[in-house]
Amino acid sequence: MAPSPNLFDDLPDNLRAAVHALGWTVPMPVQEKVIPLMRGDRDLIVQAHTGSGKTGAFGIPLVESIDIDWPVTQALVMLPTRELANQVTQELSSLGGPCGVRCLAVYGGVGYGPQLEALEKGAHIVVGTPGRILDHLGNGRMDLGDVAQLVLDEADEMLSLGFWPDMREIHSYLPAKRHSHLFSATIPEKVRSLSRYFLNDSEFVSLSEGQLAPQEIEHFFYLVTAQEKEGILARILEIEDPDSAIIFCNTKADVRYVTGFLQKRGFDADQISGDLAQAARQAAMNRIKGGTLRFLVATDVAARGIDISDLSHVISYATPDSPEVYVHRTGRTGRAGKSGVAISLVSGLDIGNFKHLQHVNKIKIEEREIPSEKVLLERIADRIRVKVEHEMRHVPETELKLQVDRLVPVVENLTATAEGRRDLAAICASYLREHRPETSVTTSSDEAAPAHPDAGSSDHGSNSGPHRRSSSGRGRRRR
Ligand code: AMP
Repeated sequence: MAPSPNLFDDLPDNLRAAVHALGWTVPMPVQEKVIPLMRGDRDLIVQAHTGSGKTGAFGIPLVESIDIDWPVTQALVMLPTRELANQVTQELSSLGGPCGVRCLAVYGGVGYGPQLEALEKGAHIVVGTPGRILDHLGNGRMDLGDVAQLVLDEADEMLSLGFWPDMREIHSYLPAKRHSHLFSATIPEKVRSLSRYFLNDSEFVSLSEGQLAPQEIEHFFYLVTAQEKEGILARILEIEDPDSAIIFCNTKADVRYVTGFLQKRGFDADQISGDLAQAARQAAMNRIKGGTLRFLVATDVAARGIDISDLSHVISYATPDSPEVYVHRTGRTGRAGKSGVAISLVSGLDIGNFKHLQHVNKIKIEEREIPSEKVLLERIADRIRVKVEHEMRHVPETELKLQVDRLVPVVENLTATAEGRRDLAAICASYLREHRPETSVTTSSDEAAPAHPDAGSSDHGSNSGPHRRSSSGRGRRRR
């Protein structure tokens, strides 16, 4: 019996020959799913493991999309390491070479010569790491103005703390009209949320579930004692660093208390409860809708009717009285195909209720360990480090070294005393205020650019507190 036809059979002759030359006779599951989708109109988020055949899954449609008579870069693949850049370039060259497609690996730590030569000839597909790509872009040696396809491979790393500032800068060189696809073995919420910076109206493709899954809300809870609740809430807000959130309380008294507590800690929080005059409630609602308020603390009744399309988080400060209320609360995030996070603080007394609401609503809510103070401090230090590294990129290396050598003894002297350490912290705080990374960018799609953990949504904007959002409102993407 003849083997059943597969999508390799329908490839153009020379690409089919290239696929067969690699010894590929049948598409792997990720290729079966992704190749037709990448030929379509949607941006994709693909959850696929290394070794699953994902390079071929994006490589085949990329090669197909290239106009070989046009010697400009039409596709860009970004990935985190030079090894991966070499490996992917090799595979893309094997697929594209016989079709006349030129692929180029671009990464740091090697001479510029061969890369520049290849760029001048016109590399159709560039595969590279962000640092060197940015280097070429900054010197006008690379032009991404005609990129129609962008692929972020190992996207969980590409969108991580270390790469984010470079990724955002590269984003500004990309044309608005393009397709973008993200491949990663894991798609944590942070990646989904940051993917909105690069992707438009994306479709989620999961191989592990064997089906196309819609973007979903991630639910989890923390078990807390009544005494530590507000402190834990503050810590979770620091760690999660939501772009925007509604914090639901069961009573007006709690709304007042939690709002006051957060405001005192410098969080950009406001409240709506039945206690407030209509005008004050409306003002708070307008601010959260308009994106100039990050945290709205509310009772269920007061929050009824608010429609905010891109609220990233919903937090239940207290377990709702009925299972339906949980659905109403969490339905305020993850709207219009976007992802969202629903976090609950559950006290020991409420655990029975909480189990019941999971049962009734047929959802499994995972318990998370409360982040320790140490983890929190590390996270804040990471944000500072990333910001400083990003700023320093523009200072010549020799000048930087001289300055650092000169300042090391000064810093050592300062850290020797408690007073000196406070001064140093004040310098850092002032530095962070002065060097806010750009998060407000323009978009034609009217969609908000998400704040990133290291992008310091906690310290940009002209307001004074450390947890305030830009007073100019939610950023607009440049796309
Ligand atoms: P990747 O996940 O892209 O690193 O691919 C893992 C390995 O699978 C590589 O060695 C590929 O050459 C190989 N591979 C990819 N697609 C196929 C296919 N359709 N049939 C057989 N091997 C494949």
